[in-house]
Amino acid sequence: MSGIYIHIPFCTKACHYCDFHFSTKLSNKSTLTNAICEEIKLRKKEFSGAFNSIYFGGGTPSLLTLRELEKIMNQIFIYVDSSQIQEVTIEVNPEDITVELLRGYQKLGINRLSIGVQSLDDKILSWMNRNHSSKKAITAINKAQELGIENISVDFIYGVPNFPKRNISNELHQLLNNSPFHISCYHFTIEEKTYFGWLKKQEKLAELTDLKSEEEFKLITQTLEQKGYDHYEISNFSLNGKASKHNTNYWKRQQYVGLGPSAHSYNYPIRKWNISNNAAYIKQLQQGKLNQEQEKLSSIDHFNELIMLGLRTKEGVNIEEALPLIESNQQDKIKLKIQEFIDDKFLAKEGPIISLRKEKWLLSEYVSRELFILN
Ligand code: SF4
Repeated sequence: MSGIYIHIPFCTKACHYCDFHFSTKLSNKSTLTNAICEEIKLRKKEFSGAFNSIYFGGGTPSLLTLRELEKIMNQIFIYVDSSQIQEVTIEVNPEDITVELLRGYQKLGINRLSIGVQSLDDKILSWMNRNHSSKKAITAINKAQELGIENISVDFIYGVPNFPKRNISNELHQLLNNSPFHISCYHFTIEEKTYFGWLKKQEKLAELTDLKSEEEFKLITQTLEQKGYDHYEISNFSLNGKASKHNTNYWKRQQYVGLGPSAHSYNYPIRKWNISNNAAYIKQLQQGKLNQEQEKLSSIDHFNELIMLGLRTKEGVNIEEALPLIESNQQDKIKLKIQEFIDDKFLAKEGPIISLRKEKWLLSEYVSRELFILN
């Protein structure tokens, strides 16, 4: 199945770690909404397949009014069969959540919230320049649950430097008291073009040691698994079979259509992306055109991506589907390497499926690299 991603490139302020495309100039929000609708019209042919998920990401999609959201969704449903859509997710920031907004989401058919909690330690939240407190985050989850929105995912960041006394276990237990169906745990990274990147350049900030990060990862994994969460992808955990359909499509290299500034689209062998500039994007669409950049993936690229993404998941990679993408002499080398990794107990093999053993998940990048074919 395929997915639709809509990038909403607005935030009220910049978090110090974030290098996503967004603007704090909210005045052209409604013009940009119209531009997204124009983009949908222009790309109508791309909606002919079977779509099962819609994902509003950003940026901060919870800054859109209900009317703006409705406009985009109505435009999509002119071309896409709404009865096939099983999951409609919106990323929300805790400080934006009100009962009115949540009721509106329900009316629009949005059935999954992805809440940017990040941490339940107020000092860390403020250090990262987040706009909410831990109390606001918990209140947001509770409000949604009280209204019957159960399919809630929360984002949580670990590996945060500068807080040697962080009580990650306490934060996790507070989260778990509220039983979100899904938790995405991302490692803190220092991106070059961010405030933290600038601090790093001044040698005023450094990443946490690998050892400490590994400790936190293990603690998270153990705590969540004990509470019944299925660790189905390195960074993702779900309860009650509520794995993200949107991300699963992505990991399986299914087609996705990305709308809005900076959004990427994929339909093998083509990957294309929109301009990362709100004003330029709006101008293009007002002129009735969309200038996308694109690249054509080779079958080797496709092989490498199947390996890299598959080894991040519990499901692994169907090697019989992946191997025909490369030359037969390359296949022989890869088969030998796979066998070595199986002998060394890095990989498990069941029928045609290879997967990374759970205790080796933190080494997924290394194993993938070893199995990559160079173009
Ligand atoms: S982390 Fe989210 S809310 Fe913060 S600046 Fe980035 S996109 Fe905006």
